[in-house]
Amino acid sequence: MTLHVPFDNSYSRLPDGFFVRQAPTPVSAPSLVAFNDALAEDLGISGAEDADLAALFAGNAVPDGAEPLAQLYAGHQFGSFNPQLGDGRALLLGEVIDRSGTRRDIQLKGSGPTPFSRRGDGRAWLGPVLREYVVSEAMHALGVPTTRALAAVRSGDAVLRETALPGAVLTRVAASHIRVGTFQVFSSRGQWDALRKLYEYTVERHDPAATDPHDLFERVVARQAALVAQWMSLGFIHGVMNTDNCTLSGETIDYGPCAFMDAYAPDTVFSSIDRYGRYGYAAQADIIVWNMAQLATALVGLMPDQDAAIARFTTQVHAMPDLIRAEWLTRFAAKLGIATPQPEDAALIADLLDLMHKGGSDFTNTFRALSDGPEVARDQIADRDGFAAWAARWQARLETQPDPVALMRRTNPVYIPRNHRIEEMITAAVAGDDAPFHRLNAVLARPYDVQADAEDLTRPPQPSERVTATFCGT
Ligand code: AMP
Ligand code: MG
Repeated sequence: MTLHVPFDNSYSRLPDGFFVRQAPTPVSAPSLVAFNDALAEDLGISGAEDADLAALFAGNAVPDGAEPLAQLYAGHQFGSFNPQLGDGRALLLGEVIDRSGTRRDIQLKGSGPTPFSRRGDGRAWLGPVLREYVVSEAMHALGVPTTRALAAVRSGDAVLRETALPGAVLTRVAASHIRVGTFQVFSSRGQWDALRKLYEYTVERHDPAATDPHDLFERVVARQAALVAQWMSLGFIHGVMNTDNCTLSGETIDYGPCAFMDAYAPDTVFSSIDRYGRYGYAAQADIIVWNMAQLATALVGLMPDQDAAIARFTTQVHAMPDLIRAEWLTRFAAKLGIATPQPEDAALIADLLDLMHKGGSDFTNTFRALSDGPEVARDQIADRDGFAAWAARWQARLETQPDPVALMRRTNPVYIPRNHRIEEMITAAVAGDDAPFHRLNAVLARPYDVQADAEDLTRPPQPSERVTATFCGT
């Protein structure tokens, strides 16, 4: 093997109860679908050759310095607590320090069973692997904190779901895989020493300046508030905001049933398993507060004076909705060209969203059209008179803003990974044609730039193309 990965592992130095060492299970015929050269370079990975890459990122060969392990965690899934989840089909190979000096996890997903697999097979099929590759890289290009995709490999094995599907392995890169659920597993078991160790590890890795658990909590809350507001400003619906899919780093993680909204409707839900709309578009702003309350509950176990800790965590949790509103206002104001938002701008934004909702306007295309002026944008809104009245208020508001068009063009993407395009790409890949996958990646790498021959990727779905449900990444 010529590939060199400069591993520098720290999670594997934590006590035994944090993980189980587990080697990946080899697959029959690994073949490389994609390798992210730019990311590899950032990570200091060198000497890559395709045949090696396929074997390594399928788990058939373990690179020097890797110490594969399955991490333990728990989590609330759709509101009910599962005391033990853990990596059932993922393995942390190890960590590298990237060019900017940040420690990053390198994880295989779909690499075979682990002691945490429960009834699962430890595998992933090609569809969700390519969906996560495209959407996580698109999110990165859109400027959203997210895990990244380093490689995707076909396994050559069939994976049995409702039918037999082609298997695949994704290599994911993350600031860490520490989740709210990682804190919950130790706290729910009363393993206070482990909880303390996890806290210290997290502080060292993500928030070396944090002075105590309340301070760490404040920083995580700030990151998550900013993240969810940013998702909403792009019409992104995560779809499965369980506490095990909610990171301390503030990165978006686990692109199972996620989707971008086409027509604006705040109650949009895609996930086939989200029957009550718990994780719908607008609900995300409430659910993240609920998730943070679960983190606070776990952190209470670290505090000597529990009553005082509960009182203070409660105050911190109650402050979060205002933080989210402020982040939301900043993000949406920028989408209208307003760099210095005032509280009154919330009504201007809400009134536009209301017009969009009533007429079923495409979320992405309407905002992008606004950067070409009201005459262009009005074609996106059914209520012409309502839009004319709104546009007059908006134009008056922009008079005091320095360079609204430039701001709008870097906050309103032309291209998002539309769900019908993702489904089309998956269908093609299953039939052996990876061209749509590569094309989506290429266009979505520059989502704010109008590109030649990519107009079709801006189009909302035709009624026959509309995807109404997405399925969890299993
Ligand atoms: P997710 O919905 O992907 O966040 O996964 C939730 C939990 O189910 C995690 O503990 C996963 O490791 C586990 N899991 C999901 N799919 C599989 C599978 N095919 N085999 C084993 N475990 C799985
Ligand atoms: Mg998960």
